[in-house]
Amino acid sequence: FRQRIVSTATDYEHVLHCFGKVAHRVGLSVSQQQSLLKLSETLHRTNSLYNLTGIRTRHGIIAKHLIDALTLLPFLDEQAPNRIVDVGTGAGFPGLVIAISRPEWSMTLVDSVRKKVSFHEQIISDFGLRNVQSVWGRAEHIAKGQLRESFCIAVARSVAEMRVLAELTLPLVQVGGYVMAQKTVDAQHKELIAAENSIRLCGGQLLHVLDAWPSRGVEFVSAQDLPPLADLASNKIIVVKKERRTPAKYPRRAGVPKKTPL
Ligand code: SAM
Repeated sequence: FRQRIVSTATDYEHVLHCFGKVAHRVGLSVSQQQSLLKLSETLHRTNSLYNLTGIRTRHGIIAKHLIDALTLLPFLDEQAPNRIVDVGTGAGFPGLVIAISRPEWSMTLVDSVRKKVSFHEQIISDFGLRNVQSVWGRAEHIAKGQLRESFCIAVARSVAEMRVLAELTLPLVQVGGYVMAQKTVDAQHKELIAAENSIRLCGGQLLHVLDAWPSRGVEFVSAQDLPPLADLASNKIIVVKKERRTPAKYPRRAGVPKKTPL
């Protein structure tokens, strides 16, 4: 038991060190870093009451929720998007991290579970976030309403396999915009090959499968400044470009994309 306490303390210190390095690399101010750590503490506390995420340790939340989300920033910065949607955001990841890190961008969080949206509302109010709105509902419904084709970028992490995710995200993105999905995909990219049809039918084209860490040939941060890759939630960023408008029939009724993927 004593050994476990010691190793947990070491895990926490190491991951905190990694967080500081990555946060510095993506240009976060000290107060932004403090806000993100406060977010992780609030989630850790609230999670024991409301079960918002399966990641329960303090160091796990920093590695899998904060650092993992920060790896998206160099790719998002290239697009300088002004409107982003996070589909299936859960407790707010990666969306809340992006919103705190880039307050000049507008972020919409979407999730179908009410208690998760209540958590976002509490964070938005406690942290005074003026660039975030949280929408309770299924992406299939929301994409039929006024938010359809209104975002520059849709991000999503650990929501569904790519065939399903394409139908949930592409209808929300305007032509010329992108879906950036954080995923762990196998070396043969079988999941992506299977998704070609769905992506095409919804108006998109698979552009890149990017390594989350090295960015444009430049090491994002050095290896010893990262938590072990197994501790991160995703290793690739799948980039899909929205080339044509999504036909009105997509997305299909709630639940159908998952039950019968395109
Ligand atoms: N993106 C978060 C993360 O990486 O920590 C949460 C991942 S969690 C495994 C998947 C989330 O997607 C859940 O909170 C679930 O409620 C939400 N979700 C799944 N299908 C959805 C849909 N069709 N519309 C809206 N939210 C959905």
